Amino acid sequence: MPAEFSLIDAIARRAAARDDVVLGIGDDAAILAVPAGRQLVVAMDTLNAGVHFPEDTAAADIGWKALAVNLSDLAAMGAQPAWCTLSLSLPEPGAGWVDGFLDGFLTLAALHGVALVGGDTTRGPLSVCVTAHGLVEAGRALRRDGACVGDDLWVTGAPGDAAGALAQWRAGGERDAALRARLDRPTPRVEAGLALAAVAHAAIDVSDGLLADLGHVCAASGMGMEVELDALPASPMLAAAFDPGQRRVLQCTGGDDYELCFTAAREQREGIAVIAEAVGVAMTRIGRVVPGDAVVALECDGRRWDPPRRGFEHFAD
Ligand code: ADP
Ligand code: MG
Repeated sequence: MPAEFSLIDAIARRAAARDDVVLGIGDDAAILAVPAGRQLVVAMDTLNAGVHFPEDTAAADIGWKALAVNLSDLAAMGAQPAWCTLSLSLPEPGAGWVDGFLDGFLTLAALHGVALVGGDTTRGPLSVCVTAHGLVEAGRALRRDGACVGDDLWVTGAPGDAAGALAQWRAGGERDAALRARLDRPTPRVEAGLALAAVAHAAIDVSDGLLADLGHVCAASGMGMEVELDALPASPMLAAAFDPGQRRVLQCTGGDDYELCFTAAREQREGIAVIAEAVGVAMTRIGRVVPGDAVVALECDGRRWDPPRRGFEHFAD
């Protein structure tokens, strides 16, 4: 049997079922039952070796991350994840590598009840592309274009850890394993996104850098934002590994955080504290929505701070 088909068989054997999967792996396409009154939310993200993860990343971590970044997009839309597809480009059809990859991928899929329903397997440079499909009540998705003047700006968790890990990896010196785990195994804020859909006006997940991603919300909403630098929550390990100046750059421009940034009316402050407690994820107010069209980062004395760059852009240099 050609290696491609034995690999697909191995994948199919390990993929979990769901009642709403009418037809999964094995035919020309999958058939999925979308419940009445729901809308389908679809996200796709690719991970390329050396671009989206260091070349030394374990197969299981690549598997986890490939799904995590997609579930993070669904979380930012307030969607309930349901199904996914997986395109694998592999330099060699290594069953061992695929098994390791599936360990990470399917562990995260099981945590969120997501069924792998199809994909594609090809030979080429190591690259993984995933689509994730989720469901929302019709018309209730969280979008980038709903921010209102006067809204609070919030962030989940503590941004900057993944960028800190990458900076340490690039420097080649001492490396903190807990920071590296945040780079390799980001936590998609799925439950937070679902709960916030009822109270937030706009949301985005932070993949390319906090200031850059907030810029997308501003552009979509036709608004400006002020970010208070001193309000940005830092994890203890990030604070221990970097001085305040470096930390600020990592937190504002690093990316790969997969935290959610969202805006909500002031009246929602207590409700958001309740949600944070219920889902077990810290939520911190870091600024506000203002008239204008730009994201401005402010020192505690109100002076404006400009980072060396705003975030990660492909093809930028
Ligand atoms: P086709 O040539 O008709 O596109 P394939 O031979 O590529 O079909 O795939 C056969 C079946 O295996 C399809 O159902 C496809 O979705 C599934 N499949 C292929 N690769 C993967 C993968 N990496 N992960 C999950 N399902 C896969
Ligand atoms: Mg076909």
